[in-house]
Amino acid sequence: MGRRRVSCGHSGSPETSTDVETRVLVINTGGTIGMVLHDGVLSPEYNALVKTLRKLPILHDEKYAEQTKLYECYKPEEKTLVLPKSKLDKRVVYTFLEYSPLLDSSNMTPNDWTTIGKDIEKYYEDYDGFVVLHGTDTMAYTVSALSFMCENLGKPVIFTGSQIPIFEMRSDGRDNLLGALLIAGQFAIPEVCLYFHHKLYRGNRVTKVDSGSFKAFASPNLPPLASSEVDIKIDWDSVWRPSTTGKFTVYTHMNHNVGLLRLFPGITTDTVKVFLSASMEGVILETYGSGNAPDNRADLLDEIRKATERGLIMVNCTQCLRGTVTISYATGQALSKAGVVAGFDMTPEAALSKLSYVLAKQDLSLEEKKRNMSRNLRGEMVADLEGAKFSLSDSRFIQIIAKTLSIGCKEELEAIRDAIMPILVCAAAKNGDTEALEAIRNMATDLSKADYDGRTPLHIAACEGNLNVVEYLLSKGVTIFTKDRFGDKPLRNAVQLRHKDVVELLRKHGAHLSRAELQDTGTELCRLAASGDLEGLQIWKLAGADMAMTGYDKKTPVEVAKANERKEVEDFLNAA
Ligand code: ASP
Repeated sequence: MGRRRVSCGHSGSPETSTDVETRVLVINTGGTIGMVLHDGVLSPEYNALVKTLRKLPILHDEKYAEQTKLYECYKPEEKTLVLPKSKLDKRVVYTFLEYSPLLDSSNMTPNDWTTIGKDIEKYYEDYDGFVVLHGTDTMAYTVSALSFMCENLGKPVIFTGSQIPIFEMRSDGRDNLLGALLIAGQFAIPEVCLYFHHKLYRGNRVTKVDSGSFKAFASPNLPPLASSEVDIKIDWDSVWRPSTTGKFTVYTHMNHNVGLLRLFPGITTDTVKVFLSASMEGVILETYGSGNAPDNRADLLDEIRKATERGLIMVNCTQCLRGTVTISYATGQALSKAGVVAGFDMTPEAALSKLSYVLAKQDLSLEEKKRNMSRNLRGEMVADLEGAKFSLSDSRFIQIIAKTLSIGCKEELEAIRDAIMPILVCAAAKNGDTEALEAIRNMATDLSKADYDGRTPLHIAACEGNLNVVEYLLSKGVTIFTKDRFGDKPLRNAVQLRHKDVVELLRKHGAHLSRAELQDTGTELCRLAASGDLEGLQIWKLAGADMAMTGYDKKTPVEVAKANERKEVEDFLNAA
């Protein structure tokens, strides 16, 4: 998005503004952040949040809204607000979608995960990013579940909430909401994340660790993806890059016959037997240390073996907050021999929701489902078999530069890499050189890095029509929704420069133009129809434009083609 005519007032009037706008949908599911005290207890109240935010200058710029006629463009009932201009010269315009009833997250079920997922899917093409307001108690479960349910996600989905309601004098809610909005609106991080107390975490890595501190969440096995200090610093190298891309969809058929079984010394066989009942289809076994269970309890191991043999999937996760499941101890091997698969360093929340997701996949065999549980699907685990990451200092190229400049410390090496790499990557993309891109990728460089103008290698390859480079970049999971400083995404570049095959490929991988961009196309389509430009029309059609869109004078392209005697174009438009 970001293409609202900000100057929608009279031309030349002071109502014009050149600010780049980005749009965020805020889905309010409930939680403390919007709760109000009633008779001494906290409960969520419908509409209270938006009313309050309108009065807070750090969260809403009323002057800008009036000057740019925000409420005319986005109707008041849509509950739209706008942040003051950010340090990156952007305006985050955000719209509330409020659930009814608003829930304390302790009352949430997987059906609520589905509702959130479906709404993200429904509004995916209208917004640059999503913020989900949610209670902290079960947020780690919902955020983990959504990370699996969202397939081929290309935009940020950021969960947040607070420990104290936003209406109170001392509240962490204002900071959390502001940080989540700024990140969702300005950085194309294609992940389901959780933002809390100045840190952005990968959603399926978090767990709630404190009920009384503003630092309520921890991500024990993965450092934060970003931190909000004087500036917002994103660790782009840690951002998850899937190796496949496709059209964004939300998978909602979660299997509910799953559970968490925590081992404790002296657990009885009966307890285990009852828990592993016939109706259970998947169980996360929370074991000791690095994945250990007693190997001197034949009774227990027998129950586990019987269950896995009849097709129940059991996954071994540690009770420890930090660390991973290994098979270095005999006690751990006993479980693997009984058919329990390793969950490596997954949190119980991630493991449970992943199991629920994987079990529901009808087209997978039991063996494939088991394999998926031990495989990294969304950055939720580091599996043992994955090779060590190539270290920056291993790169000979960087070493030579570092030597020439006589520097050696990690920070300086990183600074050099970050200054040089975007230029090299963009040059390789321009030249169609996938080999060079692969070499650069091996220097631990993120191929989504943008140059000074915010243009990524995908923008460049899309402009040049380098189909093989576009294909290569997509296979490496680069983000397709990054906007350059002019507000353009790679798909728009490919349309403008008429690279039909690139447009087709990008669309296949889930790229789209925003509804606002598409609504603006009527006049352009009529112009193309008038001049008989069939190719131009075909490209716009591939890009998703509605061929019946009217121009400024309310005429459709087919009417224009007819009036100008463009028979071929007229036939194409009639068939479109
Ligand atoms: N009980 C609340 C909830 O989870 C706590 C919170 O929002 O922090 O909805």
